[in-house]
Amino acid sequence: MIRSLRARLTVWYVAFLSLLLLLFSMLLHHLVAQALERRLDESLSVEANTGAALLADEFQEMKGNASVAASEVLADLRLSGSTVAFTDGARVLGSSAPAAMDELTDIARRAQASGPGHNVVFEPGGGPNGAHAAVVRERLGGQEYVTIAMQPLDEIAADLALLRRVMLLALPLAIGLAAIGGYWLTRRNLLPLASMAQQARQITHSNLETRLDAGAAAEELATLSASFNELLSRLDQSFENMRRFVADASHELRTPIAIIRGEADVALANERSTAEYKEALTLVLDESRRLSRLVDDLLNLARADAGRVKLRVEEFYLNDLLAECCRAAHTLAGARGVTLECTPHDDLAFHGDEELVHRMVLNLVDNAIRYTPQGGHVTVSLDGRAGDVEIHVADTGTGIAADVAPHVFERFYRGDKARARQDGGFGLGLAIVKWIAELHCGSVDVASAPGAGSTFTVKLPRESV
Ligand code: ADP
Repeated sequence: MIRSLRARLTVWYVAFLSLLLLLFSMLLHHLVAQALERRLDESLSVEANTGAALLADEFQEMKGNASVAASEVLADLRLSGSTVAFTDGARVLGSSAPAAMDELTDIARRAQASGPGHNVVFEPGGGPNGAHAAVVRERLGGQEYVTIAMQPLDEIAADLALLRRVMLLALPLAIGLAAIGGYWLTRRNLLPLASMAQQARQITHSNLETRLDAGAAAEELATLSASFNELLSRLDQSFENMRRFVADASHELRTPIAIIRGEADVALANERSTAEYKEALTLVLDESRRLSRLVDDLLNLARADAGRVKLRVEEFYLNDLLAECCRAAHTLAGARGVTLECTPHDDLAFHGDEELVHRMVLNLVDNAIRYTPQGGHVTVSLDGRAGDVEIHVADTGTGIAADVAPHVFERFYRGDKARARQDGGFGLGLAIVKWIAELHCGSVDVASAPGAGSTFTVKLPRESV
């Protein structure tokens, strides 16, 4: 097995060319042989006709003496390597080459046996290369005479042998030259590939922004280089995302840990009353809860990125799930003075991961309550009339500015107000909502205006997974 592409291409090219040249040579040989034989047959035919016409004239002049007439004609004829003979069917009256008597009588017999034809071309097959003959039959003085012009194929065989010799010399030479040319051409055209491999070898995680330069390479190699560059861009982008994710995660982890440490330091610095210890421990507990929520979210997103999350698909009723989420968020809504309403809906069966969908809806409801001031209203509703299932979570809260809306689903993105609030999350809630919706082949969208509240809509195909 040849491993080098250059050598492999050259071998295939040479093999194909050799086959083509061989077929071409065979065809050429066959056509030349046919043309030479046709020309010989034509000239033999002319000679036989001329001989027959002259025999008829001399027969008249010699008053029916066929043998003398034949000798007269033979004396006048100018022949070009062929043998002309006259027979009366049984015996040869005269011939320009006496050696082939037997064959001539045989040809005459066969000509007479072949029926009433006038001018026949035979292949008598005499000699090492065979022979061709033209035969003309005529009736003179009540007797049938046969004029034969015959020539061995030796001359044609010699011409063809010369042609074969030329081919035998020229073919290997042409194939050799083609092989050298082919190798040089493939080498030249594949040079950019070697350069691209060299450039690719120098790309590591620290210079992923580098791109391959294919130079003036052929279109196919330029396409390969463009695809490789696109792959690099994607890798660069995901490396950048990972770097940002780790940096943001560390940053978010630092704050609660700093609070816990600070609180513990202060509490331990002096003797404190039980109430003070209780207060410090409550703060530590709150921050630990936040911390564990953050670690949970991070773990989920990291698993999502690694594609390790396996959906536990089952059939459940979406209307029941929504009602359950509202029940769970009821206490928070009550504490915030926000009314939470879950619009009832008929049974709507859905195939999906119940736990994840529950989490998604709860995140949206939780946000809606947190970003709605006291006295506000949050409505959770379901729309299953169309082919898709739509979950709406609408609030009468702060709303989202138009320039902020496109970013709210990004990881660690928090609006200014949310950042300032103590109870604000880490900016991962909506990223998780988006991930769960997409995992179910759906999407999430927000319609909002500052001060007028927001409506989050999750669209899920019924047979999503
Ligand atoms: P967070 O933990 O900050 O709530 P999210 O990913 O859930 O993170 O939300 C990202 C940002 O989107 C929030 O910081 C907030 O600015 C904005 N946001 C989310 N839900 C709402 C809502 N219902 N009303 C107004 N703003 C919202």
